[in-house]
Amino acid sequence: MRPQEYIKQEPYKLYINGEFVVPGERRTFDIINPVNNELFAKAYRAGIKEVEEAVRSAREAYDNGPWGRMPAKERSKLLLKAARILDRRKEEFAATETMECGKLYASALYYEAAQGVDAFEYAAGKARCLEGSSMPIDNQTLNIVQWEPVGVVAEILPWNGPFMMGCQKLSIILAAGNTVVVKPSSWASLSTLLLAEVFDEAGFPKGVVNVLTGSGSLIGNALVQSPLVDMAAMTGGTDTGKSIITASADTIKDIALELGGKSPNIIFDDVDIDEAVKWARFAFTLNAGQVCVSGTRLILHKNIYEEFLGRLKAECEKFVPGDGFDRKTTLSPLIHKEHARIVWEYIEKGKRAGARLICGGKPYEDQELRKGNFVPVTVFADVAVDMEIFQEEIFGPVLCVTPFETEEEAIALANATKFGLAGGVFTRDAKRSMRVAKGIRGGQIYVNSYFSKAMAESPGTGWKESGLGVAGIHKYMISKTIFIDTAEDNVPA
Ligand code: NAD
Repeated sequence: MRPQEYIKQEPYKLYINGEFVVPGERRTFDIINPVNNELFAKAYRAGIKEVEEAVRSAREAYDNGPWGRMPAKERSKLLLKAARILDRRKEEFAATETMECGKLYASALYYEAAQGVDAFEYAAGKARCLEGSSMPIDNQTLNIVQWEPVGVVAEILPWNGPFMMGCQKLSIILAAGNTVVVKPSSWASLSTLLLAEVFDEAGFPKGVVNVLTGSGSLIGNALVQSPLVDMAAMTGGTDTGKSIITASADTIKDIALELGGKSPNIIFDDVDIDEAVKWARFAFTLNAGQVCVSGTRLILHKNIYEEFLGRLKAECEKFVPGDGFDRKTTLSPLIHKEHARIVWEYIEKGKRAGARLICGGKPYEDQELRKGNFVPVTVFADVAVDMEIFQEEIFGPVLCVTPFETEEEAIALANATKFGLAGGVFTRDAKRSMRVAKGIRGGQIYVNSYFSKAMAESPGTGWKESGLGVAGIHKYMISKTIFIDTAEDNVPA
């Protein structure tokens, strides 16, 4: 099928209480292709009324529906069924994500869609392994700690990997036994709306999954403030995370936040330079730099500094920008005009602050490319700690390079921002790699490679201002301790 044939002509509907619905006010928003900024679909915009309906439906399904009484084995079967449906429809998901987010189709299909299917398969197994623990305290006392679903979860998604992240979050939320209202970003809503069709076809009971699309500050905020929601989980920017912490205070909600990053990638002078250059390039350019854990600060040993920069420039100039469906394309556009504008502002700030521009840094001249949100791969060297481009998340294909001499200096530079999401270290010295990995204050550290190969099995957390909450299924569960005293004569005197 041609990619456009997957796209619906009618506006995409919300999914509430097991039905695809048009909201009362019938308002829609535009879905734009970042390659050319052309409108190619519309989706309905939920209002407060739809938030209330979706939350009530998730609450009812959790409190009184069949879901709460369903054995874990049955939940597991439904998750496996969802995995099979997703696998069958993966080309459709990948094509939709490429059109809406500008992603490279091969990456959307062979990496992100594959990860999405894998997430459901993993969660199906996990649903059957929800163990607690028991503590024999003395001859007559046994304490049991068991994990229960937290209840109704509001899951709020970002735009940079909505399908893969949506699958990872929803599969594990459901494996834990929760019900959910999910809200994707308005810049990338379609894959989550398509996921609703998967849950519908798999036969999940009504109300277990609800999908609302629309404004974050209106409906996202209403979800966070609803007293019927037990937990608000959001993946997105650090400022949005801070507003969720404030908004959730009135209802003392459980919250889990996966937020921004400005991750260091430390390269020592004992590496194979050609290999390390390729890793360094990959670490900050995947999805045009729109990956939360991207290695966007290269902390580079002084002994190899200029040689490394020369080879990195040559590698970065090989990128071919274009449409993600074109096999020749290796650089995708940024998600939205507004986001590209912010990234360009950072590039200008870097120049004004006196960072040395190694490559990129000016707009493409090609008229076709200028229709889209393309930003060339840009490398700044000699970036000082006090520059804004060192400190702030840019979320585009922009690398800041800073030299170091000693291991202690490298770790200090790595930890010199408010973020603590991820980091990398490249060295042939095994002991040093472990010392540095331990020294970096962050939740996901890669050694001699970059990006995780098993996100389902080993999810990460965000430290410092990069997040809040534990990783894995316990993020969406709550513990209960049961104290059992078996003695007959235990009444206090
Ligand atoms: P964003 O913060 O702008 O939006 C995230 C989501 O929150 C969207 O669905 C948005 O509509 C919603 N939202 C906005 N205001 C809200 C409010 N007041 N109340 C409730 N919800 C609200 O983030 P984004 O631009 O979509 O995504 C990019 C950011 O996400 C980057 O900072 C990136 O680092 C981060 N991210 C983090 C991780 C991680 O695992 N730590 C993963 C992916 C992306």
